[in-house]
Amino acid sequence: MLVIGCKKMVMQLHIGFDDTDSLRGSCTTYLATQIISEIFDRVIFLDFPKLIRLNPNIPFKTRGNGAIALHLQGAQADLLYCKKVVLRKVQKLAELEEKNTNPGVVFIEKQIPPEIEALSKQAMWDVISLQEAEKFSTFPNIELHQFKLGRGIIGGMGALGNKLAGDFTYEHLSYRMPENFGTEREIDPESVIKADKGTPLTFNNVDYKYNSIMITPRGADPVFAGIRGETVDEVLKAWKIVEPLEKISMQMIFRTNQHTDQHFVKHFTIKDLIPHRSAIVRGKVVKKPFYIPGGHLIFSIKDETGTVDCAAYEPTKKFRGKINGLVIGDEITVYGGVRPPGKNHPLTLNIERLKVHSLMPVFKYENPFCDECQTRLKSAGKNKGYKCPKCSAVYRNKKVIKTELPRTLQIKEYLPPIIAHRHLTKPRARQGRDNTGKQMTNQKIQKILKQLVDYSREHRP
Ligand SMILES: [Zn+2]
Repeated sequence: MLVIGCKKMVMQLHIGFDDTDSLRGSCTTYLATQIISEIFDRVIFLDFPKLIRLNPNIPFKTRGNGAIALHLQGAQADLLYCKKVVLRKVQKLAELEEKNTNPGVVFIEKQIPPEIEALSKQAMWDVISLQEAEKFSTFPNIELHQFKLGRGIIGGMGALGNKLAGDFTYEHLSYRMPENFGTEREIDPESVIKADKGTPLTFNNVDYKYNSIMITPRGADPVFAGIRGETVDEVLKAWKIVEPLEKISMQMIFRTNQHTDQHFVKHFTIKDLIPHRSAIVRGKVVKKPFYIPGGHLIFSIKDETGTVDCAAYEPTKKFRGKINGLVIGDEITVYGGVRPPGKNHPLTLNIERLKVHSLMPVFKYENPFCDECQTRLKSAGKNKGYKCPKCSAVYRNKKVIKTELPRTLQIKEYLPPIIAHRHLTKPRARQGRDNTGKQMTNQKIQKILKQLVDYSREHRP
């Protein structure tokens, strides 16, 4: 494509990176926001920056928390400038951070190959090895940059290959002043409740059941607050209502796969469950729920290939009490992460969502009553009928009274409370919602990004 007037070749550059966050107070979205601020005037953004959460059931130490993709268009020289900015920033961070941070940067020019899209789909529920990702270094339009172990290229590709062509959500992120990192976040909780009530298309702002403000994270990272919602206008509106009681250095809006359940796509039979996969498994309850020390609830399900333990851990709180109502024979589908076997437990499905398909009838059995005095009879001994404890009448042929008990569970889906949700969990507030095809026009994206970048440039120290 030629841009009239300046005769420069306009090209596309797609940038993906991951594993640049750590416990020491950095975060991949923070880095992305800084980068966007720096390159914004030189290129056109073809989409909002994307924040992609990959399979959350991979051990934390071997995955990034959220991967970023930037889709840009510009003149070759400007795109080269973007590459330099990204590499300089990531390099600096890699030198500073501890050994569990293994940043990786992926540059793809022109089209994103279908092989990257396939890898991205798999990365949502499976474990991708570094070798699998490194194979892409042979593609002529792909450039890989690995820092230390460079594991971040897996997430970088995962983000680049995820077009968010189906359902998606937005997150507005605001960042703290560096001098406040590590201290408690100062926010007016009433304003968060007001924002929540005033913007029905945002969600997970407050967990009312557990009286918890959800938009402010707890850790040492630079994020002040994250507001998640269905539209850009709505997350911006909510942010305007929220009253931070400390200075905000930067803001950005990401288009994400958060809260879309994108990690639950694959159905597995029990024998095919492999540790760290996110799996959907249908089966019948064969061992009724019981609590183990620590407050975790365990039960077993079975399909035609085997039996597996399922666990609702203590942090899922009241969810456990509901699930505890399962009985042998109930038919359910469990959505969960496969936890590898340990010293004290077999391979276990860690339940993130549970669907009840059918419930076994449950009966109560009671002795019949005496015809003479209406007293409840007692057993007269095995096969000897009943005897009245009051008037001593004996009954040979009376039958036990069988009453069906109401089940506490219903034929529906059960979810843990918001406080126990993963980033990908589709919350109850989003049930029935789907943003497929609702992407913004390019012009509007530019306009909103410009406002956010202008804010960041003005307030960043
Ligand atoms: Zn009697």
